[in-house]
Amino acid sequence: MSACPICRDRASDPAFRPFCSKRCADIDLGRWFTGRYVVPGAEEVDDEDAPGGRDGE
Ligand SMILES: [Zn+2]
Repeated sequence: MSACPICRDRASDPAFRPFCSKRCADIDLGRWFTGRYVVPGAEEVDDEDAPGGRDGE
């Protein structure tokens, strides 16, 4: 088992590896959106159906 790279907690949900949950996966994804990483070309995103999934916006 590897630790979640976002919150350093244990990765508990194999569906969202290496993250512990969708929340942490979204946080990592958000880093891409904020331009932390350079994305060559458009990235396919089909995860905008999360009502209230993002906090701190
Ligand atoms: Zn986490």
